[in-house]
Amino acid sequence: MENIFNNKKNEPNATPIINQYDNLKENYYRIFIEAAESIRSALDKFKPESPCTLCTKKCNLETKDIFTDYPVGCKYKEWQAEALSYLNGEYREKLKANYRTIMDKRSDFACNKCGDCCRLAVSEYSYEQLKQRAFRGDKYSDDFVSVFVPYESEEAARKANPEYFDALGDLVESKTYYYYCPKLKDNLCSDYENRPDICKNFPYNPLKLLPSNCSYNEWRNVLSKQAMLLKAKTDIIEFYKQKLG
Ligand code: SF4
Ligand code: SF4
Repeated sequence: MENIFNNKKNEPNATPIINQYDNLKENYYRIFIEAAESIRSALDKFKPESPCTLCTKKCNLETKDIFTDYPVGCKYKEWQAEALSYLNGEYREKLKANYRTIMDKRSDFACNKCGDCCRLAVSEYSYEQLKQRAFRGDKYSDDFVSVFVPYESEEAARKANPEYFDALGDLVESKTYYYYCPKLKDNLCSDYENRPDICKNFPYNPLKLLPSNCSYNEWRNVLSKQAMLLKAKTDIIEFYKQKLG
């Protein structure tokens, strides 16, 4: 959502939305396995090397897996604690650095000022829910309701960008609400200096669907593998935290 100077619809390099989704889906499973293996190998570095020759507990566990329920005092239980501490500390910091790299790279690409993101925005929340979330202090919701208003009907939303609308309907499983910004006038942001952070920082996730004319599709294409790896690692460490915490 940059300043909108003109309407460059139907750019020759536009990425059809359905292709964006197919590319992500095809790669995610493979990347998830890659992420799981890399985390397991990072945690194996903390694993005790010597067999339990001195242990009197004689648990007879054949597989010393990180998710095994070890008895108190067992050195493998210490391994679990060390692994958890590593994931919550150093590893999480690495993931944050990865995220910053992805977002910093966005500045290598420029908005083509098509206005599509102002014309059709989506949320899993209704307008009332967004206002309640904003009231409770949610910054994103507060920004959102400060500029966007709901379309009167799904037909009206579809007219704004039929391809984007249809793709969202096909691909997003949850209920979707459609919005537009009345500050878009003659394809210009009429309040550019005062636009909120959600406009300045759009798009903020290289895994979300974008309108096909959006020039940040190029950013997505370049960074999507890195972003998928980051998402997979983030999901996996949440799983480890639940199991080991
Ligand atoms: S304030 Fe409205 S028109 Fe301006 S950039 Fe944000 S969404 Fe677009
Ligand atoms: S959809 Fe993308 S290219 Fe178009 S105005 Fe929004 S950020 Fe810029």
